[in-house]
Order: sequence, then C-alpha cells, then structure tokens
Amino acid sequence: MTRELTCVVCPAGCRITVEMDADGTITSITGNTCPRGKNYAENEVTHPVRTLTSTVSIDTEEGTKLIPVKTDRPIPKEKLFEAMEIVKSIRIKAPYKVGDVICPDFIEQGTNLVACKEFDK
Ligand code: SF4
Repeated sequence: MTRELTCVVCPAGCRITVEMDADGTITSITGNTCPRGKNYAENEVTHPVRTLTSTVSIDTEEGTKLIPVKTDRPIPKEKLFEAMEIVKSIRIKAPYKVGDVICPDFIEQGTNLVACKEFDK
C-alpha cells in the first residue's frame, strides 16, 4: 500500500511517499527533505492529529461576538467532529485575553481550548 502526502510542517510542502506492507507496517518513507517530514509522515499514517481552530460565542458589552479559539496541542483527527460539536455548544462571557483557557482538558486530558483574540469587556 502506498500513501502520498504533502508535508505541512513547513512551507516547503514536500511530497512524501509512504510505503506500507499488508499489515500497515511502514517499509519506506521517501520525498522528505528533513527528519521532521519523516516524523510527520509516520504520524500521519499511524496516528494523525490536527490542531482544532474554530470560533466560540462570547457575550460582550457590545453584544454577542465570535472569538477565535484553538486547541493548545493537536488532537486525534478522529476526534475532530466530536470536538466541533462541543465547541458549537460553548458560550463564554468577556473578558478574555489571548491564551486564556476557555475549556480545560478539552477532548483529551492536558489539552486546552484557548482564546486567540482579546475581548476586554
Ligand atoms: S520534509 Fe522538512 S523541508 Fe519538507 S515540508 Fe516537511 S518539514 Fe519542510
């Protein structure tokens, strides 16, 4: 089995080819131009993760706005849908600063949903 990937670790966007045998064991990784690309490819075919980015409703003195949010570390790709359902249900009240934790232990223990914009009132 062959997987063709585009490495997203840096803007170079190397095309990486991962060869696997029938039981999914990686037999070769080619096309990466640095070790980070090899790590990315290994993770992508065995345990893909993504940083979730979205918005959450925030009540401010000027009415309800949307505040950009993200997870402070990547979460398993298969949990993204569940995570988005939770994000849609969250409503917070200002003030919030960049980096403030909106939801601790979000989806996974040790992963936080954090604010990416400041609303001071
Ligand atoms: S393999 Fe290395 S150089 Fe190529 S995109 Fe990935 S991180 Fe960048």
